[in-house]
Amino acid sequence: MLEWNIQSRAHACQGCGRDFKNRETLHTVLFDERQAYHRQDVCEACWQAQYGEGANHRRGFVSHWQSTYEPPPATPPDPIQKETAETLLRKLLENHEPQHAGAVFVLAVMLERKRLLKVKAQAVESGRRMLIYEHVRSGDVFTIPDPDLQLDQLESVQRDVAHLLEHGLQPAAVPAEASAASPATTEPADAAPPPPPAAGAENLAPASPAAAGESPS
Ligand SMILES: [Zn+2]
Repeated sequence: MLEWNIQSRAHACQGCGRDFKNRETLHTVLFDERQAYHRQDVCEACWQAQYGEGANHRRGFVSHWQSTYEPPPATPPDPIQKETAETLLRKLLENHEPQHAGAVFVLAVMLERKRLLKVKAQAVESGRRMLIYEHVRSGDVFTIPDPDLQLDQLESVQRDVAHLLEHGLQPAAVPAEASAASPATTEPADAAPPPPPAAGAENLAPASPAAAGESPS
């Protein structure tokens, strides 16, 4: 199974070791190395010498594209800024949280619409579509599986995304679903919507405050 991942653009050619210059055109070649896609960033000369025409015949070749190198910004972004779609996507990918697979996909689509990510390649792994996005500025490559969302899952995924953007990614202290650890079960994973409240239920006294299970900090 391919892992989700983010791979940063190299700052030096991985063929000859020379530092990339500002605005230099570089070549990214993506190879499938079983557990993950592995990117290789090389300068024009190394591309011509080592890859060139034959790259797509190499074992495991997935994709190739060119981009323009830009050095990272001198000042790191403000660490206390609010969670954005991009910071959230990075955290979700780094944490490998399969329960947020839908959110990961939706966030990637949001960033694609904002033109921050561009689809560079698509591949099918074990019957599942994998999308390879490149960040237009940093050149980071995001490998994201298409969760093949069904129409009836969209609402809960949208809710998950909204909740994550509002509250950030909480440490997984509470095992939300005990079955999450055993993917072998044939139990359908999609949660059925809760039944409508019985007539008159809203007139009952509210439940005890402790029932919600969430206490402020
Ligand atoms: Zn080189």
